[in-house]
Amino acid sequence: MRSPSAGRLAITGARLVDGDGDHGIGDVLLEDGVIQAIGEGAGAGAATVVDAGGALLTPAFLDLHAHLREPGQEVKEDLASGLAAAAAGGFGTVVSMANTTPTVDEPGLVAELVEKAARLPGARLRPGAALSHGLRGETLTDFAALQAAGAVMITDDGIPVANGRLMRSACEYAAELGLVVQTHSEDPSLRGDGVMHEGEVSQELGLPGNPDAAEAVMVFRDCEVARLTGARVHIAHVTSRRAMQVIEHFKALGAPVTCEVTPHHLTLTDAALRGFDPVFKVAPPLRSEADVAYLREALRRGTVDSIGTDHAPHTRAEKERDLMAAPFGLPNIEVAFPVLYTRLVRPGELELADLLRLLQDGPAAVMGWPRPRLQAGAPADLVLLDLETERAVDPARFASKARFSPWAGERLRGWPTLTVVEGAVAFRLEEGAG
Ligand SMILES: [Zn+2]
Repeated sequence: MRSPSAGRLAITGARLVDGDGDHGIGDVLLEDGVIQAIGEGAGAGAATVVDAGGALLTPAFLDLHAHLREPGQEVKEDLASGLAAAAAGGFGTVVSMANTTPTVDEPGLVAELVEKAARLPGARLRPGAALSHGLRGETLTDFAALQAAGAVMITDDGIPVANGRLMRSACEYAAELGLVVQTHSEDPSLRGDGVMHEGEVSQELGLPGNPDAAEAVMVFRDCEVARLTGARVHIAHVTSRRAMQVIEHFKALGAPVTCEVTPHHLTLTDAALRGFDPVFKVAPPLRSEADVAYLREALRRGTVDSIGTDHAPHTRAEKERDLMAAPFGLPNIEVAFPVLYTRLVRPGELELADLLRLLQDGPAAVMGWPRPRLQAGAPADLVLLDLETERAVDPARFASKARFSPWAGERLRGWPTLTVVEGAVAFRLEEGAG
């Protein structure tokens, strides 16, 4: 089991912030996996004391979209490295994707993940399970049995559900069970063999493009199916203005649709592909500057429900192939908050409270989970954030097995220095970093 905190742990002198606001400087006292007391002087008498020195203490983040690669692809990542990486990024809870080998499409596989993760330090695992057997898009998995085994979400993420009738059946079934269906919304026929966003840059480079229409068309279908069935459909990794406008349209109609954007689609554009570096090859692709600007506007307007990382580790060797052959995806869970804090909050593009909402209350609301709060009796899942010290991104120090990053060498602020999960220290920054 996750080792229970040895006696009482106190974090003192922290700036306490949660979805209800900024509660000023105070202490928290943690015991038995929950917050026992909070406020000025609450930390007195604890066995272990961490002096926060005025750093920001807030509920640990929730990531509804991470690829932890177990079972079967442990060369890329495994539960231990993935959950440690999540904790290093300030995440206390992670929903794992089912596109593993074998696919997580049987209740026994879900149960195995739950059992194994419970014995590991790091973030808490809440597994997602496949929508179709083998992600083949042909037959539905047994959602009820998967849910009973511990699956919290149904998703074929990685592969779009091409068949509309199967998507409808999945949503009808999920609605009965109150399960969220997360979609990878890209029309496979329109996407074709595109390796990057279709636009000026793809033309200039002579690379096959994946048009924004491929995303917008499938988002439209998925929103219609949500409206038709009443299922809670969460659109993963929205990348384009066109797709976001479709979601806005359906949200205005009251359709039960929520959506996610990723740190990379908010901070990088297709221009990054000019160096032909496969680290920037992701699916759906990095889009144009105008798309990124629109996604940022959607964050400010509140259209976006959650930021999910789509942490997608691969081996270096795989990502060092040429651009056409390299796999899609990049690791980012350890740098997600610093990247977004440095690129969006510090320049004044996004309020800190909004960024926190997109990593805490937002994903909790998508899933129907309790909103994380700093209050007595709440789970002791917390992250301490140093908003001031600049540190360079050093992939060699990643807990993830995927030790490369599009932000390697960049100096960022907003690093997690301590992550607590169920009252136990899941991550502590070793100084000397940066
Ligand atoms: Zn994904």
